[in-house]
Amino acid sequence: MKQRIAIVGGGWAGIACAVELADQGVPVTLFEAAQQLGGRARRVEWEGLAIDNGQHLMIGAYRETLRLMARLDSTQKLERRPLELHMPDFHLRLRNLPAPLHLAFGLLLANGLRPSDKLAAARFMRHLQHIDFRLDSDLSASNLLALNKQPANLIAKFWAPICIAALNTPLDSASAQVFCNVLRDSLAGARTDCDLLFNRADLSGLVADSAITFLRQRKSEVRLASKVNRISSTEAGFHLSEADFSTSHVVLATHPARLPAMLSDLPEMASTLRLISAFTWQPILTFWMHFSVPLKFPFPMLGLGDSNAPWVFERNDIAPGMVAIVVSAEGPHLRLPAEQLRDDYLHLLADQFGALPELLKSKVIIEKRATYACIPNMQRPGNRTPIKGLYLAGDYTADADSTHTYPATLEAAVRSGVECARQITSDRK
Ligand SMILES: Cc1cc2nc3c(=O)[nH]c(=O)nc-3n(C[C@H](O)[C@H](O)[C@H](O)COP(=O)(O)OP(=O)(O)OC[C@H]3O[C@@H](n4cnc5c(N)ncnc54)[C@H](O)[C@@H]3O)c2cc1C
Repeated sequence: MKQRIAIVGGGWAGIACAVELADQGVPVTLFEAAQQLGGRARRVEWEGLAIDNGQHLMIGAYRETLRLMARLDSTQKLERRPLELHMPDFHLRLRNLPAPLHLAFGLLLANGLRPSDKLAAARFMRHLQHIDFRLDSDLSASNLLALNKQPANLIAKFWAPICIAALNTPLDSASAQVFCNVLRDSLAGARTDCDLLFNRADLSGLVADSAITFLRQRKSEVRLASKVNRISSTEAGFHLSEADFSTSHVVLATHPARLPAMLSDLPEMASTLRLISAFTWQPILTFWMHFSVPLKFPFPMLGLGDSNAPWVFERNDIAPGMVAIVVSAEGPHLRLPAEQLRDDYLHLLADQFGALPELLKSKVIIEKRATYACIPNMQRPGNRTPIKGLYLAGDYTADADSTHTYPATLEAAVRSGVECARQITSDRK
């Protein structure tokens, strides 16, 4: 009997890997410890409402994510809008012009930047284009901006919010090379690559729910509430403990912090585990607020200040009057009690919207290990491991070429899952 490939972990990387293999006629068994698929991008029930564990944002450059969603017939659950940045003293809208004019005119016409800021931004982008977005050596994003004489006002209003949102890492410790990769694929890409994609269904409704049906229709199995505790090698391949499952190929698609326990019986994985033990983590806080009537948003996402200030998202798709406030990366906000956060955010919202309707309820969700800290010169493992038949997938795996690496995002997770499936197919030939 042909064995099914085991995929351990049903986040977006595991789902993408499973869908890709099943689509090629290779059946899989997907093991997920939780009651539902989705991992760090999933639905959470809140007093009868389906909210997200954390507000997410996608962009037009997420090619593999969009391809996966198209395969699962769910792209219509996204609202696509040309990029606009609305902050209290700053507004930038990308123009409907071919690249790079969309950015040039967007900057030229932006409110809240001085002429010297606009020139400095254009010079910086031209310089990055000239060096093909490849740095000789990695450094922090703040050092890269300082070396390129970027004014403080421009950094606070434009570069810092982009870097912190994309890398979920403070500017002083963020990898300048990965920041350049993001700029290359978004601002310096085609106009539609910068489009913002807002989910108009909860996160599980985007991919996880339809993936289960897709996989089951293709002779694959999804086992929920099925935690795999350890992997051991056998003559024929691998044995998955607890699940009591044996197979020749295993994809580990869990959060990297789970790997040391799972791989403790496989000494060949020591070098991979050493890389992962050097990772540190960054949190993301989402504060959900349900108002009695919808707030009037000029754009679905508004910045409430400079640098790493919160962003507020309109989520009337969940329930009229619902908003999500997101704060990326570490900061003093994490030490505040929920009541204090609520009062602080109500003030910030009142500054933007004027008198607010009644707040019906609120809820804070902090994901402490939302992403790894994307620091300079990170060493990350690839999909293949030193053990034949054992693969890794997840937002943390990387290509050997650092100019290809993406920060920990949905797109990085999906790309990793798809690439892992391709490597398995090619290795089995
Ligand atoms: C609050 C928040 C906001 C974010 N915002 C954005 C955003 O705006 N845009 C963006 O692109 N990205 C964002 N991200 C990042 C994005 O969500 C992640 O990069 C992506 O979801 C990671 O997917 P993954 O499949 O690699 O890992 P995970 O989602 O961690 O999936 C791993 C899965 O493995 C399962 N598992 C673990 N151990 C076991 C075991 N022993 N046996 C079986 N299963 C196991 C877990 O339950 C989980 O389902 C955000 C993340 C968070 C937390």
